Amino acid sequence: MNTLFKTVAAISTPHGTGGIAVVRISGDEALEVASRVFFPVSGMSITEAEGSRAYYGKIKYNGEVIDDGIATVFLSPRSFTGEDTVEISCHGGVLLTARVLEAVLSAGALPAPAGEFTRRAFLSGKLTLSEAEAVGERLYAKTDAQLRLSSPDAAGKLSAEVSEISARVMSLLSSLSAVIDYPDEELTVVGRDEAVSECEGIRGGISRLSASYKTGKALSCGVKTAIIGRPNAGKSTLFNLFTGEASAIVTDIAGTTRDVLTAEVTAHDVLLTISDTAGIRETDDLIESMGVERARREAGAAELILWVIDSASDEPLECEIPQTDAVTLAVINKTDAAGRETLEKIKNALAERSVDYVEASLLSGGGFEKIKDFIREKFTDGTLSVGRDAIISSARQASAANEALEYINSALTALGEGLPADIIVTELEGAYGALCQIDGREVTGDVVDEIFSKFCVGK
Ligand code: GDP
Repeated sequence: MNTLFKTVAAISTPHGTGGIAVVRISGDEALEVASRVFFPVSGMSITEAEGSRAYYGKIKYNGEVIDDGIATVFLSPRSFTGEDTVEISCHGGVLLTARVLEAVLSAGALPAPAGEFTRRAFLSGKLTLSEAEAVGERLYAKTDAQLRLSSPDAAGKLSAEVSEISARVMSLLSSLSAVIDYPDEELTVVGRDEAVSECEGIRGGISRLSASYKTGKALSCGVKTAIIGRPNAGKSTLFNLFTGEASAIVTDIAGTTRDVLTAEVTAHDVLLTISDTAGIRETDDLIESMGVERARREAGAAELILWVIDSASDEPLECEIPQTDAVTLAVINKTDAAGRETLEKIKNALAERSVDYVEASLLSGGGFEKIKDFIREKFTDGTLSVGRDAIISSARQASAANEALEYINSALTALGEGLPADIIVTELEGAYGALCQIDGREVTGDVVDEIFSKFCVGK
């Protein structure tokens, strides 16, 4: 029984007209509140309802029947939030649903803030924080990969792996603490070599988690990508190949001007925020220079540069490539119209500069698969199975994993230098604390608030 929270309610379905809408009520008084609004046809009161059952009945507001519908009752702890919950499914009219919610609020529930139901699920231990975050990611997923990455199985795998590693840290921690408490028994409790090998095992596990963020980030946050190259090289053609493939998720990002087009696309599973710097060839010099400057900035901020080269032109390699750490792929385009010698010259020049390249004939889509293969290879770890393996997908979790890694490294250094057990214990405690942040066993209220504020009302 949870006495910490008031009973809250919200419309859990999207705003708009639909077949049905759901008003969710959660808290100790959920059944009492519902019983003032929902009247089962059997004549019973919803306060007598059994858990995990649905009841057909009338919905009343101010003594008037406003709709008929279904109340699904979940009794604590067997509900999403862990609290008593009633979900009233009514007909999905905008005004009607608002009235049902009004009725529920006037029957004693408070309006639930954004993410409140999931926050309660986390606070009552029904979900770890990483699982709760995955629920949010699933709600906002735009690609198949994001759905797989945030699936309940994948989120559960991450929680299970974090909890396994933290249990190992805790076990080593307890053994070493015993050494401090009973120094005479040092060798019988845990030997130094044993501690080193256990620490290395733990480090391996945390390193794998931390490394998985490379893939998680590419699939969930996206890779900032700039297509550059001389006018007429085929940049727009490449941009259109990307957007044409994924037109469902193409978005014109607000604030872009006519000289840079930006869209969200996928290359295999990798999400790209891709900018096409085409259109910089305005007749007016001032506009052109603004466009070039803008293109330069886009390329400077990119994590991936796709440099399109027109192999059919006289000066194919004349292009300013910004000096950045970005992954760069040269796309040798128009191979259908290029001479064999020119092609060889281009390839040699790129090899000399250690620039990766693919040959393409973008007009007919030639080489596009290879470009996507390159991106997948560079930005994801091919050994990970998305949806099945534990993959970190948020910057918050990644920074906690890195912090845990630093503590384990310090513990290993301390062990190597023969420092006393209490110093090693302190480092392991740090690692344990950092791991607990990943699944939320040790996070501050601010962090929790920040995470749940990104959810919508009703979730
Ligand atoms: P941008 O100025 O770099 O954006 O170049 P565009 O994508 O607008 O392409 C310039 C011209 O090159 C267009 O007429 C395209 O049809 C043509 N083009 C693009 N790719 C190829 C290709 O693979 N082969 C040939 N022959 N022409 C191409």
